[in-house]
Amino acid sequence: MPRTLIAGNWKMNGLRANLAEIEQVGAAVPASDLGPEVLLCLPATLIQAAAASVVGSGLKIGGETCHSKEKGAHTGDISAEMLKDAGASFVIVGHSERRADHAETDSVVAAQASAALRAGLTPIICVGETLAERDAGEVLKIISSQMAGSIPQDAEASTIVIAYEPVWAIGTGRVANTDQIAEVHGLIRNLLTDRFGEAGKGVRILYGGSMNPGNAAEILGVAEVNGGLIGGASLKAADFLAIYRQAAQ
Ligand code: PEP
Repeated sequence: MPRTLIAGNWKMNGLRANLAEIEQVGAAVPASDLGPEVLLCLPATLIQAAAASVVGSGLKIGGETCHSKEKGAHTGDISAEMLKDAGASFVIVGHSERRADHAETDSVVAAQASAALRAGLTPIICVGETLAERDAGEVLKIISSQMAGSIPQDAEASTIVIAYEPVWAIGTGRVANTDQIAEVHGLIRNLLTDRFGEAGKGVRILYGGSMNPGNAAEILGVAEVNGGLIGGASLKAADFLAIYRQAAQ
């Protein structure tokens, strides 16, 4: 069984005044290889201070996106190397908000994931269908094509994480039901074993979409769910830790 990963995504939220929430999470997560791995992906402005404040705890810090290039004339962008230098160990790539707001295609996402690997970060590669695609019966086709296009050639099973995030469930309070989650996670697992062989069984597949302390235990109990990517409920230490504690049971 892959080790459970409980990952938060703060999106464009958080000022230095909110570092206390991160410190609270850090204080509750022991530095140990046992139990779930815990991660907060933060706005770039908070990464360095957050990483410094959780030294000695088990809480890891990540970025929310990265550019595919190491450096250069890309005003406003941030490289995977910069994230690593600031103290990140993971980075989300291909989040549906990035795909929608910044027209990031599968090939852009694959290049970003490859950049993360180059810098020594673990990419969390997001896939997920829109409501229109689900209603059109295209879920499995869309997920298969995003998986094929978004995982870079240089990825290995041990170096990536996949997050299934139905777009219609993100930030909406509408959660995919356990049958829907099981179906897509099962498909993703099969695609991973097709690609990586036996090692594909070890890739963590996270569910993301309105996960909260009230539904986390049920979702984490679904076959092939190896953790969560949590937006809104990761902003408050108490909520995020409640999810972590359910994963730790
Ligand atoms: C996300 O940001 O990846 C996410 C799943 O958000 P929320 O938990 O708020 O739906």
